[in-house]
Amino acid sequence: MKQVYNFNAGPAMFPLEVLQQVQAELRDLQGTGLSVLEISHRSKEYEQINEETQQLLKELLGISSEYDVLFMQGGASTQFAMVPMNFLTEGRVANYIESGTWSHKAVEEAKKIGRTEILASSEADQFRKVPDLQGLKIHPEAAYVHLTSNETIAGTQYRDFISTGEIPLIVDMSSDILSREINVSNFSLIYAGAQKNLGPSGVTVVIVKRELLHRIPNSIPNMMNYQVHAQKNSLYNTPPVFAVYMVNLMLKWIQKNGGVKGMEQRNQLKANLIYRTIDNSEGFYNGLAHVESRSMMNVTFSVVNDELEKEFLRQAEENGFVGLKGHRDAGHLRVSMYNAVPYEQCKALTDFMDDFQKRFG
Ligand SMILES: *Cc1c(COP(=O)(O)O)cnc(C)c1O
Repeated sequence: MKQVYNFNAGPAMFPLEVLQQVQAELRDLQGTGLSVLEISHRSKEYEQINEETQQLLKELLGISSEYDVLFMQGGASTQFAMVPMNFLTEGRVANYIESGTWSHKAVEEAKKIGRTEILASSEADQFRKVPDLQGLKIHPEAAYVHLTSNETIAGTQYRDFISTGEIPLIVDMSSDILSREINVSNFSLIYAGAQKNLGPSGVTVVIVKRELLHRIPNSIPNMMNYQVHAQKNSLYNTPPVFAVYMVNLMLKWIQKNGGVKGMEQRNQLKANLIYRTIDNSEGFYNGLAHVESRSMMNVTFSVVNDELEKEFLRQAEENGFVGLKGHRDAGHLRVSMYNAVPYEQCKALTDFMDDFQKRFG
């Protein structure tokens, strides 16, 4: 098979051994003679996958018993609507930190549901940095504060979070969940579409503090209601069984490779390597995100001029580097290096970058 270096932004790379296990088990799940695609979600085999996957996430992230782990559908984009539907109740105000394209979309959905205020925004900086979280004026009637921990498109990330006291802090961690250690108890609700760091598209992980569920009005339709999914243990309707099964394998792989701490160390090395190459290039490559807001997951940069940037992309593709074209909203180049991307792959890219600069710089 052709050697490729996969830097896709999502859906993204899987470890080869996980894909091989999926392939090996596809026709016969653990001796049942059946594929995971063909069994009931009420079977004991699937119930075990459902339980074990929740358990693995709880262990890996150190989630306390005050939280429920849910597997939902509709991607993070559905969460943009579900969060205000469930929690932005009469007389309350939703507070958002707008740090990029994704949080902007979350704001737009909340506005359709109720009163929404942006506490801080970096739109004027083209989202190339994350807004400062110090001194935020949280509304006294805030239903919650929402932020996006990693902005996948511009390549920015929060290093530290704030405490919002009694007001629930809700965070979209779609592109950096399990990439570094976090203190889950800082947050009331965490959501993440799986297709960046956790597994395939089709399943969205929600980690929610149980006390929040009691506030949800009965009028919310069942499929959009966190309480219903929690009470039914993510089996209210047919869940995306294959996607959850793959998340299960991915979590075991993370566990085997040093857990979240191991991922963080590896991700730090990978990011340092690429940023160092950009910073040492004397302006041949330019990082787009402000240094203090740089993401460990998505590195955005440009090449010294448009002509050479096109040539860079062309030659990169020729050499097996996949997924380097930036998102249409930010342009330029983007290197996404979620958990499954090995250090060696990043090294191959920086070798290519150095060589390209030698030839064209
Ligand atoms: C990819 C992404 C989304 C959108 O996810 P979908 O599952 O496609 O809806 C939302 N937020 C962030 C931070 C993302 O990276």
